[in-house]
Order: sequence, then structure tokens, then C-alpha cells
Amino acid sequence: RTYAGARERPFGSRPVTTALHDVDLDIRAESSLGIIGESGSGKSTLVRLLAALDAPTSGTVEVDGRPVDAAGPARSLHWLRALTGIVFQDPYASLDPRMSVGRIVGEPLWALGAPGDHRARVEEVLLRVGLDAEAAERFPHEFSGGQRQRIALARAIVHRPRLLLADEPLSALDVSVRARIIDLLARLRTEEDLTLVLVSHDIGVVAHVCDEIAVMKDGRIVERGRTADVLARPRHPYTRELLAAAP
Ligand code: ATP
Ligand code: MG
Repeated sequence: RTYAGARERPFGSRPVTTALHDVDLDIRAESSLGIIGESGSGKSTLVRLLAALDAPTSGTVEVDGRPVDAAGPARSLHWLRALTGIVFQDPYASLDPRMSVGRIVGEPLWALGAPGDHRARVEEVLLRVGLDAEAAERFPHEFSGGQRQRIALARAIVHRPRLLLADEPLSALDVSVRARIIDLLARLRTEEDLTLVLVSHDIGVVAHVCDEIAVMKDGRIVERGRTADVLARPRHPYTRELLAAAP
């Protein structure tokens, strides 16, 4: 359950940007929520609040009934790290080029202090996302963009999170690779029993993977509903515009 209030970003002497206004959002554990909206509408900020990568200036964020204290010591967010997996937009930026894929994918297990040898689990998730176990010995630059996004997904699910946050995980990929990653996301969500929050500016992607949609505009959620309802009867003019523009 989350509630995010207004958020401001003082940046040196530059004027303050309020990235989110009066966002009141409840995400049920069994749902997969797609967040759509134009560039700058606050989608990433909302995801960052859920992951405690940013703190709201007012309002609260709760995950699994517990308040998220992003300003507190990192130690106090251990439970949230254990519960959450994240995939970002850019698979290049999120994979450390100096680390083997095995270390990258296993890192959440080490960071969380999970006991035992993690090699077997790392190989298992690599297979899960459609790579082979030998990938563990190689390095990110030896993989294509789509394969790197699979590595990022493997890393996001290796510790068996219950919440998967995916912020535009497809935009760096070409159309055919996108389709495969979309299918993978949809399968992971049901097979791993994950709550999925998927940010995308592509309404087609969201419609395929998510059973609920939230539409953001200028830092607000202007429409929220079941995917089929939003697609069939969009209420907000902005949603209608988005649908009309969709291929
Ligand atoms: P996109 O689709 O382009 O990724 P978004 O919906 O994810 O956009 P956000 O990144 O959440 O949008 O940005 C919301 C607002 O916050 C925008 O006005 C943006 O300019 C501002 N913003 C984002 N990051 C920062 C930052 N580091 N410092 C200051 N303002 C920022
Ligand atoms: Mg973004």
C-alpha cells in the first residue's frame, strides 16, 4: 500500500520542481499495475519513492503495510530490499562492466546476507530468463542489449522478491526483443507470483502485461482503473489522446 504526497527537488539554486502532487495510490498485492504518461509526468519519481531511492517531502509510502523511511539508515531498509526487485530503463547503466554476470546477478543475495553458496540459484535464474548457465562466467559487454535486460531481470528476481518495479525496461530495445521481454515479464509475474509495477510510455505494452493502469500527467494520477475498462472507456481527455496516438 502506498501513498505518496508532494515531492520537491531543490537543486542548487535552481527553482524547485514539484514532481508529484497529491498522489494517492493503493496497489494490491495480487495486481500488476502499469503506469503510463508522458515524459516528465513523474512516473520514475513514483517508482523511486516505492523503492526508497527518493524520499517524499510530504506524505508517506508504505510497502506491505510498513512505512518506508527513505531518509533513515540503509540498514533499516533491509526488509524493503528483500521484498523488492527493480529493473531500470537502461540495461547498460545498471550492470557494472567490471563484474561477471554471475556476481552481478548474485549481488542482491550477498547484499542481503542470504546464507550459502549462491551459484546454483544464480544459474537457475539465468535459465529462467532465457540465458544459459555459462553466462555467469562472462561480462556484460559480451551481451546484446536484450540479453543485458535479461541479466538485469535475473538480478531483480534472484532473491525472490514479491514486488517487481520495472521502470521503462524496454525502451532501449528493438521491437522483436521488446516483444520477448514483455512476454518474459508477463510470465514471471504469474509464475513467480509477483506484484508488478511497470512503467512504460507504451500503452500497448501495459495493456499486454498489466491488469490495471494508472495514467499520469503533470505529476498527478489522472485516471486509474482496470486495463480493459480504461482501454474501452477512457475517462480523462489525456488518456483518450494517448489511446488515439497508440499504433
Ligand atoms: P520519462 O518518461 O521521461 O522517464 P518520468 O515520467 O519518469 O519521465 P520523472 O523522472 O519522474 O518523469 O520526472 C518528474 C519531474 O521531476 C520532471 O519535471 C523532471 O524534470 C523532474 N526531475 C526528475 N529528476 C530530477 C532531478 N534529479 N532533479 C530535479 N528535477 C528532476
Ligand atoms: Mg522516467
